[in-house]
Amino acid sequence: MSFAQDEDISFGFEVIADFKDKYTDIYAKFAEKTVRTFVNKSNSNADYTLRKSLENMNTDKLKIKRNIQSKELDVTIESIVAENMSLITSIPEEFFKKLTTTMTLAIQNGYSLTQFKKQLMKVKGMTERRASMIAKDQSNKAFNAIARRKAQACGVKQFEWIHTGISKTPRPYHKNVLNHKIFDFDKPPIIDPNTNVRGYPAQLVNCKCMMRPVVSFEHDVTD
Ligand SMILES: [Zn+2]
Repeated sequence: MSFAQDEDISFGFEVIADFKDKYTDIYAKFAEKTVRTFVNKSNSNADYTLRKSLENMNTDKLKIKRNIQSKELDVTIESIVAENMSLITSIPEEFFKKLTTTMTLAIQNGYSLTQFKKQLMKVKGMTERRASMIAKDQSNKAFNAIARRKAQACGVKQFEWIHTGISKTPRPYHKNVLNHKIFDFDKPPIIDPNTNVRGYPAQLVNCKCMMRPVVSFEHDVTD
């Protein structure tokens, strides 16, 4: 039996539409909670890492507050939340769009049930991979953006670019040119030689580079 011969196949679209309405609602509520939790986690991780790296310098010139806060940090956190909310909400939207396309193709080409299932699994796999890629990329981005704001709030002016080697396909420019160089937070390096865009570690898609705060004792750093 193929879908093309099924007179009632159009009911599939109704099911999809119905399901989408209910699901999108539930999903939106879940998304905000998830994003807040993840940003809070990045926030405390960044606190911990910054405090550790400053403690390692073994100096009492630096007194770091328990919860490092600043106006710039608040703005950064809110923009991370907004970006992630829109990324997360785009996932079910794309999923249902692909589902509808698959359904249309199945009808037009008279797929067998087996062929249809295969296509559905493909859509499912693509969606899951995309979701997991977004999650990894975003958590790295959030951590680095928050860490930068915290370092700046503590009066740290510079950072060292660290190429972590975690990425399977590292950017040669990050690995060979930026790695271990020291930059000013106020004048970050070019991160993409093709576009000459400037920025920070982890800013580009799938960039797994990190930053290490660099403390110079020319400025008095206090809380
Ligand atoms: Zn990188």
